[in-house]
Amino acid sequence: MISSVLPTYNRAPMAFTKGEGSWLTAEDGSRYLDLGAGIAVNALGHAHPALVEAISTQAAKLWHVSNLYRIPEQEALADLLVEKTFADTVFFTNSGTEAAELAVKMVRKYWYEKGQPERIEILTFDGAFHGRSTAAIAAAGSEKMVKGFGPLMPGFRQLPFGDHEALAAAISARTAAVMVEPIQGEGGIRSLSDGCLKGLRDLCDEHGVLLVFDEVQCGMGRTGRLFAHEWAGITPDIMMVAKGIGGGFPLGAVLATEAAAAGMVAGTHGSTYGGNPLGCAVGAAVTRIVSDDAFLAEVNRKAGLFRQGLEGLVAAHPQVFEGVRGQGLMLGLKCVAANTEVVKAAYAEHLLTVPAADNALRLLPALNIPDADIAEALKRLDAAAARIESHGQ
Ligand SMILES: *Cc1c(COP(=O)(O)O)cnc(C)c1O
Repeated sequence: MISSVLPTYNRAPMAFTKGEGSWLTAEDGSRYLDLGAGIAVNALGHAHPALVEAISTQAAKLWHVSNLYRIPEQEALADLLVEKTFADTVFFTNSGTEAAELAVKMVRKYWYEKGQPERIEILTFDGAFHGRSTAAIAAAGSEKMVKGFGPLMPGFRQLPFGDHEALAAAISARTAAVMVEPIQGEGGIRSLSDGCLKGLRDLCDEHGVLLVFDEVQCGMGRTGRLFAHEWAGITPDIMMVAKGIGGGFPLGAVLATEAAAAGMVAGTHGSTYGGNPLGCAVGAAVTRIVSDDAFLAEVNRKAGLFRQGLEGLVAAHPQVFEGVRGQGLMLGLKCVAANTEVVKAAYAEHLLTVPAADNALRLLPALNIPDADIAEALKRLDAAAARIESHGQ
């Protein structure tokens, strides 16, 4: 008999009843150290006092009014994002998938308004993840996500990730945009180098093609800059944001330059919940904290500490780990053992990590994880690796 919850997830058996900082309490009262942070969502850990305050205050005032009216909380968050980024304008969604949908629509409308409606091809990459809507699975194109869901939305073409020559050869008069994660999350914490990102921007400029970054996972302070592309000193035309921006409240956004957004006039897009007062009050609290220079400097310091410890673990457990990848607190351990076994061994040590493609283990702690919790996480990962080694004998 089918379960009352549609059985689309492979869930671990634990259930949690309370969270505080980087720790979760399970139903049986035991505590787990959380290095997954809800897959890079709980950017400030669980129950951060400033976020509890922001949501409680707003909840007592006003939850929802509809985009039929001006929403001052939405305007405040949009102003903040415009001030802190390349963007001139922002649309709020409830998720990363919805941000991907709008990014695709915005690209198509841009070329339609330019009188080149035949320019519809969006170039994407192997290992990409942009969400689970029909457009987002067509964009990523992986067999695992699209099988059985055809016919797929046309207009996407996947190229090898990080292959500049292949990209240069693929751009044509039909190319509308290039859509890419500066650091792939689901794909296994695979990064494009700064040089690669600069080359990508140059190539798009040369051909007048729009550059769309998906920073749903790598954005909002995760890499030690507010957005990952800032490390390369370049900017996109359109950017998708979600996950960390709500700190656990469902919130996403599409940021764009005025030129890229030119086609999106009144009536061309909308959302019932997107940008409601509750979500935007929380989003503004998160954004104010994570965009602060001193906060980001701390993320980088903590990342250095964590990374150094992880390099030590790789050296100590060559049968389990192969190397460390990623930037800031978006870290991956490429595994030698099956990553799913490492995740299970870590569960046994009451440590939460997240598997990814390419046999990688994702470590996405709260950006404000205390140094003592980093040290504890390294101890538990060491113990998890020892468990795997003893099984192997
Ligand atoms: C999670 C994710 C998405 C989809 O976001 P949802 O909120 O799950 O719809 C899109 N792109 C990237 C890079 C992601 O990590």
